[in-house]
Amino acid sequence: MTEFRPDLEAVAPGVHRLRLPIPFPMRWVNLYLLGDGGTPALVDAGYPVAEARALLREALHRAGLRPEVLLVTHAHPDHFGMAAELAEELGLQVWMEPRELEAARAYQPEASTWDELAHQFSEAGVPAPLVEEVVQSGKRVWAPTRPPEVTRALRADDQLELGGRRWQVLVTPGHAPAHVCLLDLQSGTLVAGDHLLPKITPNIGLWPAGSEDPLDEFLRSLAALRPLPVRRVLPGHGDPYDAFPDRIQELMDHHRERLQAVLHALRDGPRTAYEVCMTLFGGDLDSHNVRFAVVETLSHLEYLKRRGRVRRTDEGVYLAT
Ligand SMILES: [Zn+2]
Repeated sequence: MTEFRPDLEAVAPGVHRLRLPIPFPMRWVNLYLLGDGGTPALVDAGYPVAEARALLREALHRAGLRPEVLLVTHAHPDHFGMAAELAEELGLQVWMEPRELEAARAYQPEASTWDELAHQFSEAGVPAPLVEEVVQSGKRVWAPTRPPEVTRALRADDQLELGGRRWQVLVTPGHAPAHVCLLDLQSGTLVAGDHLLPKITPNIGLWPAGSEDPLDEFLRSLAALRPLPVRRVLPGHGDPYDAFPDRIQELMDHHRERLQAVLHALRDGPRTAYEVCMTLFGGDLDSHNVRFAVVETLSHLEYLKRRGRVRRTDEGVYLAT
């Protein structure tokens, strides 16, 4: 029996949550319904699997709600995957940051980005059969998704009147090139997407067609959020929580420690990125997790390289300087 129910749970003033299953290790994604009067809106769309589809339809039906807007925090399959079909079926407008829409297109299975990813992984020293597995499993994840028709391009600092409240758009790159959070200043509610997850740290990866220095962007995004009067964080995965400044500090500390661990892994001489990755994450990762572990390791190596702490040789190995 499923652990998921078509129930909307009140999680902040004017905001309800619906958990939808996803076929990935995080198990579920949170959709948020902004609906306290005004224009009802849905934040994020879930991943296209039959159980999630049925739960979402049932939940909206039971609550008697018809969202008019679908706002997508970022173009990862578990967040935007059902956007196109929901927009068509429910007549929703889709609001999204333009660079995120580009990312959604860049990772469609036929796109050349996958060749770039294979090249990047080979250069990182990942064995050829594993590179192939990583690419194929990645394409399988993306295959059921479709980039939606976007009706409004979101920009930093846009003020949105949704669900009877005013939401400010915060562009918080790092986990994704133009990831978006929403802040209701009046209630101190932050709809955080994957920028500020509880318990696990969001994947910060150096991806083809992504940012050049994603870890730097992530740390800057965290620093920019820190002074904001946030009292309640509504994350894309896991449960809502209140300890906003503490969580920001933990995430910053985690990456500082990780950077030290990368330097430590290079203390005895040059290593490929894949060797550093196995030191950090262990050697027995499946192709799904290897994909994220390698791009995360590369984002840390890139951060250190740009700051003169490591150097990449012509043979593609990394050295501490
Ligand atoms: Zn994500």
